[in-house]
Amino acid sequence: MAASLLDGKALSSKLRTRIAADVELLNQKGLCPSLAVVAVGSDSASEVYRSNLKKACDLCKIQNSHFILPENATESELVSLIEKLNSDRSVHGILLQVPLPSHIRESRLISVISTDKDVDAVNPANMGKIMMGKYDFMPCTPLGVSAILDEYNIDVCGKHCVVVGRSNVVGKPMSMLLLKRSATVTICHSKTQNLREITRQADILVVAVGRPEFITGDMIKKDSVVIDVGINRRSDGKLCGDVLFHEACEQAKLITPVPGGVGALTVTMLMSNVVKACKTLNSIDD
Ligand code: NAP
Repeated sequence: MAASLLDGKALSSKLRTRIAADVELLNQKGLCPSLAVVAVGSDSASEVYRSNLKKACDLCKIQNSHFILPENATESELVSLIEKLNSDRSVHGILLQVPLPSHIRESRLISVISTDKDVDAVNPANMGKIMMGKYDFMPCTPLGVSAILDEYNIDVCGKHCVVVGRSNVVGKPMSMLLLKRSATVTICHSKTQNLREITRQADILVVAVGRPEFITGDMIKKDSVVIDVGINRRSDGKLCGDVLFHEACEQAKLITPVPGGVGALTVTMLMSNVVKACKTLNSIDD
């Protein structure tokens, strides 16, 4: 039997309505959640992301300002800008877009973002909190996966969750999130031996590799849940995930499509984090 779809797009639209209602309540208290986006130079993927962000912010009525510095901006200029945004009470969330030019140290800048405004959870202090299982902000992509698990009542407690990928933005925080929910977590990466033997044991398989259609049907356990984080452009121009969808559908019970799965939620979860930051900074209970 073919797997049922986990519809990230429908969930995203439901959550955006909820976020907009939340913003409305904050407006009534005289507050306007606001996001500052900082970027350096021109990068086409970053520009597309910013345009999606702007649309989502407008829909949720979240103010957003974009600070695009020239390619030759210095690290000190960026530090000054972020410090200014840190102390600006009308700004609640700061997003630093990567990649940055090679003369700028990303590691330095992420430490400068105020932990209270770090809506993408990149500051090492916030990452440390994620490790400890007590965090204010979680990176938006794992948070989107978490929203899917909640929406579809997928209980991960005691289940074997295999995460393929160990990046700081997806794989690692995803693994910590699942661990916090009492899953048994295995993390795989490019040096993992016998990957297929491990993924075949997964009750819940989360894939964030960045290789088109890398996970084939024979790597998937029957009746499992498959969450495909990957977004890749195929040679025919179409988008695809890191999972070979038609084969995976024959094995899995539930699966996220690409597009329309996890990707549809990432920006929405960022909106949610901005609203959360606005509430926390103004001592308003959730
Ligand atoms: P990344 O930083 O490139 O990390 C990829 C991970 O995959 C690394 O940990 C790498 O292992 C591992 N890997 C590479 N080849 C492998 C192999 N043959 N076997 C097992 N593991 C392998 O990528 P990322 O930023 O995490 O993104 C992953 C995917 O998610 C991409 O397609 C990206 O476009 C997508 N993404 C989607 C969203 C969204 O909104 N849905 C957000 C972020 C990313 P090593 O650590 O050993 O190199």
